[in-house]
Amino acid sequence: MTGAPEGLDAFTTRAWMLAAAVGVEQAADELTALDAAIGDGDHGSNLRRGFRAVAEALDGLDAPTPGAVLLKAGMTLISSVGGASGPLYGSALRAMGKALDQPSADAAQLAVALTAGLDAVRRLGAAQDGDKTMVDAWAPGAAAFTEAEGKGLAAASEAAAEAAELGALTTVPMQARKGRASYLGERSVGHQDPGATSTALLFRTLADVLAGR
Ligand code: ADP
Ligand code: MG
Repeated sequence: MTGAPEGLDAFTTRAWMLAAAVGVEQAADELTALDAAIGDGDHGSNLRRGFRAVAEALDGLDAPTPGAVLLKAGMTLISSVGGASGPLYGSALRAMGKALDQPSADAAQLAVALTAGLDAVRRLGAAQDGDKTMVDAWAPGAAAFTEAEGKGLAAASEAAAEAAELGALTTVPMQARKGRASYLGERSVGHQDPGATSTALLFRTLADVLAGR
């Protein structure tokens, strides 16, 4: 199948998760290097383990809805990743999954789901905007998607990916107030947050899949 999908169905959602697994594989060393600078150097290996498990769990899963795919992916991340990012991403994908229990979602429904994912991260991690976490990429990403929602899935997800990537860059001058990086205090300034970087990657792979790339 080629071209941009009209709706986000189970097939496209699975394609997103598999593209994310490939992206994580390619970015693992970079994510680990970012985490080595302000954390414990395991973000790339955490996500690689998690998304390999997701790809395995989705193989052969008979999922009727995008929600079923995301619930399975979220559960798998929670159970396979020991670091903070596993439960955070797992909860986000589960919250998205609960919001997407129809066979196919349009841009308005995906906007609601992305916001539900952000809310789940905020609930679990209690991070505010500017605390130098994945929230600083997810929040602008979800906001940009919602703003561009009327233009359809492909355009909205492209706007979201660009906003999330910019959001990840804005973490460089921030001082970390949550997670391991916060132990460094002012020494966390000047480094890009690994979790915000992987969130930008998730948004980018969503845009790629929804553009039919
Ligand atoms: P750990 O910190 O347990 O080693 P990872 O290295 O896999 O876990 O993930 C680190 C990333 O998790 C950080 O870069 C940050 O973006 C994110 N993170 C950590 N704590 C929080 C939190 N309380 N809220 C949101 N995101 C967080
Ligand atoms: Mg770490």
